[in-house]
Formats: sequence, C-alpha cells, structure tokens
Amino acid sequence: MFSLEAPSEVEGIVDVCIIGAGPAGMTAAVYLARKRLSAAIVSKDVGGQVAWTLGIENYMGYQYITGRELTAKFEEQVKQFPMPIVLDEAKSIKLESSSFAVETTGGRTISARAVIIASGKRPKELGVPNERRLIGKGLSYCSTCDGPLFASKEVAVCGGGNSAIQAVIEMAQVASKVYVVSRNLWRADAVVSEKAGLLKNVERRIGYDVLDVVGNRVVEGLSIRERMTGKEETLKVSGVFVEVGLNPNTEFVKGLVNLNQYGEIEVNCQCETNVPGIFAAGDVTTVHEKQIVVAAGEGAKAALSAHEYLLRRPALTLAGQGTS
Ligand SMILES: Cc1cc2nc3c(=O)[nH]c(=O)nc-3n(C[C@H](O)[C@H](O)[C@H](O)COP(=O)(O)OP(=O)(O)OC[C@H]3O[C@@H](n4cnc5c(N)ncnc54)[C@H](O)[C@@H]3O)c2cc1C
Repeated sequence: MFSLEAPSEVEGIVDVCIIGAGPAGMTAAVYLARKRLSAAIVSKDVGGQVAWTLGIENYMGYQYITGRELTAKFEEQVKQFPMPIVLDEAKSIKLESSSFAVETTGGRTISARAVIIASGKRPKELGVPNERRLIGKGLSYCSTCDGPLFASKEVAVCGGGNSAIQAVIEMAQVASKVYVVSRNLWRADAVVSEKAGLLKNVERRIGYDVLDVVGNRVVEGLSIRERMTGKEETLKVSGVFVEVGLNPNTEFVKGLVNLNQYGEIEVNCQCETNVPGIFAAGDVTTVHEKQIVVAAGEGAKAALSAHEYLLRRPALTLAGQGTS
C-alpha cells in the first residue's frame, strides 16, 4: 500500500475526484483510501492556506507547528496510498449519465462517480487602481511567503482581522516599521491583538480607507484617507501586505451547485450539496467556522458521505477494491 511518490495522472474512472489539497481535501483523501475507494486529487497546489501560515497553535496534537511542516505531514499521510495528485486547476464539472467529468485548465478530464469540492478560499483584493500592476513588486497577499524580502524596510499591512494582525506580528520581527491600516477597529482574537499591541515598531491607522498603492516599477508608498476627517496621507513603505479577507474558489461551479450570497457552497450536515454525488467541505462551504481543524473534520465527513452515497447507488460497481 505504501507509495513514496503519488502518481500524477488518472487512468479510467475513479470513485471520487477531490478538488483541492488543503486540510479538507487531504483529510478526505485519507478517509476514502481507508474505505478502499479509488480517488484522485486535482489541486492547484498542496497545502492550501496552511502553506501560507507561519505558525499554528490550535491544531490538536501540536502545541506549535509551522504551516509548511503541517502541510508536509498531511502530504506524507496521503502519499501512503497510491492516489494520484494532479497539479492542475478544475475549470468545470459536467454531469454525465452516471458520472461526473471534472475538466481542468491543463486540458485533462477526470471521470468520477462522485466529487468532493474542497477548493477553499483565496485572498480578496483591495480593488484600488495600481494593485494588480504592483503584485510581486512590493505588493503581496502572503506575509509568510514574501515577508523575508522586506528585512529592515518599512511596510504596511491592510486589514484588521486575524490574518492581518498575525501578519503584523510576523512582519514586526522582519521589517523596521509596520503600519497597520484598517477601516474599523481590529477584529482579531484578543490574544493576537494584545501581542501586536505590545510591539514597539507597529503604528496603527484605524478608521482609514486605502486610496491606492503608490509606485511606478515597485511599491513606494500607500495612499490612505481618514474616514472621519477626509485627511489624506501617503505612508512611505516599500511593501504592502493585503490581508482584507478571503473569497471562496467557486467560480467553476457557479450554476451547478447552490451558493450563498458570499459565493460559498451550501451544504447540509453531511456535506451534501444540492446535486446528488457532489459533496463539499471546508472553507469553500457555508460551514460556520473557517479553521484547519474544522476543514479537516468536514473533509472526513464528506468522504464518509461520499462512501455511503456510492454504496447506496444500485447496480454500482466500485472502481476501488472494496467497501470495508
Ligand atoms: C494567513 C492565514 C493564517 C491562518 N491561521 C490559522 C490558524 O492558525 N489556525 C487555523 O485553524 N486556521 C488558520 N487559518 C485558516 C485555515 O488555513 C483554513 O481554514 C484552512 O486552510 C481551510 O482548509 P480548506 O482545505 O478548506 O481550504 P484551503 O486551505 O483554502 O485549500 C484549498 C485548496 O484548493 C485548491 N484549489 C482552489 N481552487 C481550485 C481549483 N479550481 N482547482 C483545483 N484546486 C483548487 C487550492 O490550491 C488549495 O490547495 C489561517 C488562514 C490564513 C490565510
């Protein structure tokens, strides 16, 4: 059963195609493999948001673990099983007579009897004019990935939630100064806000809108306006970290499964969508909390529901080896 390298292509029809290799998708994979179902994972990357996280202190079993370490542990566990992990992006799911066809931007079509969507979330943009032009030129959506590039420089973090204030703590250890720009009072957990509040090189701008990112070839500043007074200011920074929330990755299933007003996939307690045979788990869904342990638990539930669905389908021969 042990395989060091997961196959990277899918042959024939599989019982379940999992879309996404974050905590939800990876946990679903392990549960499906243990039910002896055949499955394939299609994902843009391995690890999802966990791979962007510096340190995790609330995943049971580890008092502290880095995001990269936890990703490696998830991957190692999945790779015990001969399950293909295809690095590609799902662009559509088509309903066929008795199966689904997951089509990818890389030109692949994966046929599956059931699908688990675990495509998570991606960062929201500020929506200011120079934003897209300056991505990778000082503007980043991931302090864990790009933070070290700003050693001893001045940076700004936009946002006031958990991700933003965690980015502030992280950047305060690297940068010479960190401005935190938020429209409203910080919404981060008290323990996180208190830690950031003690840092000497952190300066707050609460109650400000971001007008634009300033710079021609690279970021040179952040233009902001105080909401109460209308007073404008340009912070001279060489890095801007955008941490203003996340959007669900559901564009490829619009019109196929029901979404709520935020674009999240509506699921019931069994991780079922409105389409029989399509399940969804983790941050991409309407599940109440967006956390690693929650996503992993939902991934397990989705896999068990998919297993039950496949067992209940009459005259169905499972492509996997059994049903134990
Ligand atoms: C900066 C930061 C810090 C965090 N810190 C913590 C923390 O300390 N503790 C905690 O519990 N939670 C934390 N979280 C939240 C946690 O990371 C998420 O709740 C969790 O990762 C969600 O898992 P998921 O599998 O549902 O989705 P994701 O982790 O988002 O994974 C989704 C996967 O789907 C893939 N994908 C997306 N679209 C497609 C597509 N069309 N085709 C194929 N693949 C696709 C992605 O590449 C990715 O691999 C943090 C989040 C962030 C951003």
